[in-house]
Amino acid sequence: MDIMANRLDRGFYKYQSEFENKALDVLRSGWYVLGKEVESFEKEFAAYTGSKYCVGLASGLDALWLAFRILGIGKGDEVIVQANTYIASVMGITINGATPVFVEPDAFFNIDTDAIEQKITDKTKAILVVHLYGQAAKMDAVTDICKRHKLRLVEDCAQSHGACFGGKMTGTFGDIGCFSFYPSKNLGGFGDGGAIVTDDEAIAADMKMYRNYGSEKRYYNKVVGANSRLDELQAGLLRVRLLHMEELTEERRTLAAKYTESIHNDKLILPTVREGADSVWHQYVIRCEERDKLISYLKDKGIGSIIHYPIPPHLSEAYAYLGYKAGSFVITENYANTVLSIPMYNGMTAEEQQYVIEALNAFS
Ligand SMILES: *Cc1c(COP(=O)(O)O)cnc(C)c1O
Repeated sequence: MDIMANRLDRGFYKYQSEFENKALDVLRSGWYVLGKEVESFEKEFAAYTGSKYCVGLASGLDALWLAFRILGIGKGDEVIVQANTYIASVMGITINGATPVFVEPDAFFNIDTDAIEQKITDKTKAILVVHLYGQAAKMDAVTDICKRHKLRLVEDCAQSHGACFGGKMTGTFGDIGCFSFYPSKNLGGFGDGGAIVTDDEAIAADMKMYRNYGSEKRYYNKVVGANSRLDELQAGLLRVRLLHMEELTEERRTLAAKYTESIHNDKLILPTVREGADSVWHQYVIRCEERDKLISYLKDKGIGSIIHYPIPPHLSEAYAYLGYKAGSFVITENYANTVLSIPMYNGMTAEEQQYVIEALNAFS
């Protein structure tokens, strides 16, 4: 049996006629950028998260860097972020000239909230929380620290659509929640896309201005903005997927629960969920000291797997200028050397999952 780490086609065929009908509607409408699909999606996604406003953008990275731009965080400012994240989180900070200050993760792959305060200086302006792999970070502690130190709070929810802490959805705890709709995300489009959510009317208005060359009124440009518009086709298709989000999330939870109850192997460490938080299982990430051996063993059996992520941002060439060395963040580096995402996707069959489970249980 051949099992890929991810199967985006399954997610399409599940609602094929709905997607196809919507695509044709948009193509035939004659209106392709910033129209009624984007407006409707923004209303529906804001409602889904429990936010007042949503602004559709071209990508998750744009959501992040525009968030810091609008908050006025740039050169000379520091932003606290977990060291074990996808590099785009960090780029959202550094594109604006601000400096990322890394904090080690906890046992749930989220920022270790006990390690934040020792990193706060008089230059610290914000915390960027990443709800990595679909699990909500410890948000009561994070919001408490932000309040006491008067810091802005931005959430990277590119992997956490629908995940909650204490029943409140990720993306709604701070000033701005940043989302990606890249095809492999839990709410994925058929190309690139992103959005922010916020309860602050001024932030939403600024974001609408920035995404459209810095103009509120056509050809009157107030700031140097970007071209970062979610297009009508993506917005329409995302509206279709959003209608089924609860069912899609439930399916991932069922798959994750099955893995957790069925994988028994002393060589593998399974992911756990924080009390009070939930996970939407963007990835099911196991850890293994003999990871390279495990990858090739799985590959021989036709099973795909992915390392999220092999090189932590502080060790990537892009951030050599920050001056970190191997050993700077030992927990992060240990995760980078041991984590492995096993196959997990909407539309995974029971036979496929059983095959993966049996292979993992027989690994020695
Ligand atoms: C995917 C991702 C991003 C970037 O989103 P794009 O839409 O690909 O630009 C940012 N942060 C995290 C944690 C991600 O997983």
